[in-house]
Amino acid sequence: MKICKTISEMRAECRAARREGTRLGFVPTMGALHEGHLSLVRAAKGACDVVAASIFVNPAQFGPTEDLSKYPRTFDRDCELLEKENVDLVFAPSVEEMYPAGAMTWVTVEGLSDKLDGHSRPGHFRGVTTIVAKLFHAVEPDAAFFGQKDAAQVAIIRRMVRDLNFAVEIIACPIVREADGLAMSSRNAYLDPEQRRAALVLHRALMRMKKMWEGGERSTRKLIEAGRDEVGKEKSVRIDYVEVVDPDSLDAVENVRAGALVAVAAFLGTTRLIDNIQL
Ligand code: AMP
Repeated sequence: MKICKTISEMRAECRAARREGTRLGFVPTMGALHEGHLSLVRAAKGACDVVAASIFVNPAQFGPTEDLSKYPRTFDRDCELLEKENVDLVFAPSVEEMYPAGAMTWVTVEGLSDKLDGHSRPGHFRGVTTIVAKLFHAVEPDAAFFGQKDAAQVAIIRRMVRDLNFAVEIIACPIVREADGLAMSSRNAYLDPEQRRAALVLHRALMRMKKMWEGGERSTRKLIEAGRDEVGKEKSVRIDYVEVVDPDSLDAVENVRAGALVAVAAFLGTTRLIDNIQL
């Protein structure tokens, strides 16, 4: 497994791999890898000849009061895990490499970047789309693999790829959960045992909403009320949002049809967790 630290080195390695007529798959991550990330790597290995992953904690997607400095960094362990999965190339650039001094260009998907998490995390998706565009330029992948866990991110990246004519196929992979239902996340490491228990309420709320929908309820308002009621049962959990939206436009839907995205975000102490299901 080759580890590249600079854009020019990564681009050269990726171009060399692709010249041989191989299909190059790419998995962007911020490290602190868990089974969710590894499921993307396995999907990429299954669909592509050569697989590249990136490990980069992207400052541009963190707000001024968010957890950038304490975000878990486990580089050596991450590389061991990627090597076990037979990843071919790892891109692990420095912040200075990705954001040269004086950079003033941003990629923003206007009209989507302020929905869902973008509403409560202003600037977050602008940071995501900017770094993903830059990573795509370094790697030039044929296919890129993202987790459905970040459903709004998938919608926004698909739109960016379409609008900017990136020659990359975006593949969304299912959410990987702990045995008790909690969606895997690098941020779960912040939870103390009591918060870890309380965090299950996110999944319970989604399941309650899904069950209501399966029982014939089509009113967004009623589903959201039930979701909020369920989360509210854990007094220590503070709701950020409970929404039912179209998975592409991220707009609220009136009558909830199959395929609608049910998404929740909540704070446990200072830790913000998200989860979703598609009906
Ligand atoms: P991150 O390191 O948090 O930026 O995540 C990197 C990629 O892994 C993103 O595409 C995430 O959506 C995906 N991911 C994170 N957690 C999970 C999970 N539990 N299941 C599936 N994909 C995930």
